[in-house]
Amino acid sequence: MEHEYTAEESQELRLQYRRLLVRQQVAGVVFFLSGLAFGSALNRETVVGLSSALVGPLAGLVLFVTFFYLIWNWRCPACSFLLLKGFFSTKCPRCKLSFTSFGGPTG
Ligand SMILES: [Zn+2]
Repeated sequence: MEHEYTAEESQELRLQYRRLLVRQQVAGVVFFLSGLAFGSALNRETVVGLSSALVGPLAGLVLFVTFFYLIWNWRCPACSFLLLKGFFSTKCPRCKLSFTSFGGPTG
């Protein structure tokens, strides 16, 4: 069911998509850093001067939460369909909204 959007709707979807992409990138960085901290805590006594006994569980928790956030956040701005089939989807599998004109990974 292909749907034609008005200029305003397209603009709004584009904005939502950009915000989603920014949240995804921020969460991705947090995920990466907490992964690093978690890995370091497993191998060292201290991480950046803090006890691994403290950093390990904390980093593990952040890692866990951001992992699910990354999955939850990455959804179609129009129909909220989870885009689990890859973080570089160019099109929503449900409503067929194309992201290429939104400045996405390929656009
Ligand atoms: Zn959709």
